Amino acid sequence: MRLVLLGLPGAGKGTQAQTLAQAHNLSQLSTGDMLRAAVAADTEIGREVKDIMARGDLVPDRLVIDIIGDHMSSPACANGFILDGFPRNVPQAEALDKMLEEKGIELDAVLELVVDTDILGDRINSRIAAQPDSARSDDTETTLIQRIKVYQEQTAELVTYYEAKGLLKRVDGMQEIGSVTQQIEAVLGV
Ligand code: AMP
Repeated sequence: MRLVLLGLPGAGKGTQAQTLAQAHNLSQLSTGDMLRAAVAADTEIGREVKDIMARGDLVPDRLVIDIIGDHMSSPACANGFILDGFPRNVPQAEALDKMLEEKGIELDAVLELVVDTDILGDRINSRIAAQPDSARSDDTETTLIQRIKVYQEQTAELVTYYEAKGLLKRVDGMQEIGSVTQQIEAVLGV
């Protein structure tokens, strides 16, 4: 199974990706997690993206496309994967299409976790409260506003992109975590 998860910051992509990955033996490919690890390890990429991430902007496409390309070729992805946070714009989606085509594989579905923007602020605030101080330096009010803006300006159009390919499935992301998982499994038929 090969999936893409779309949804505003705080929609629950990470939580659902992790649960689905464990339950169905898939690899969770979170570009956000990979980039945060690079920042924490102070690698060359980490130094390049640190400030961009702290502002809530998107890091250069070539970086995430390379990272995802490397991971998709790894044996851990043989049984399938869930892309969590990638693609974030149309050029990334086109690059993904090309990578999949080269590997002779296809996406099974693109899940959009639909949430109410008013309630997102509360969710993110709980996430900040639940994590150690340094866990996510981009979980601040100002960064969140910028991340939502970036989503609306660049990522939201992927809904139309994948709808046109007949891959889009919408799930109500405002339900309890377990019900969202059940809805996802129901729409996927797994
Ligand atoms: P996330 O954990 O998915 O919310 O990502 C956290 C931050 O990492 C984003 O605000 C971006 O700065 C960066 N990022 C993650 N994935 C991507 C991507 N596919 N393209 C560009 N930037 C990304």
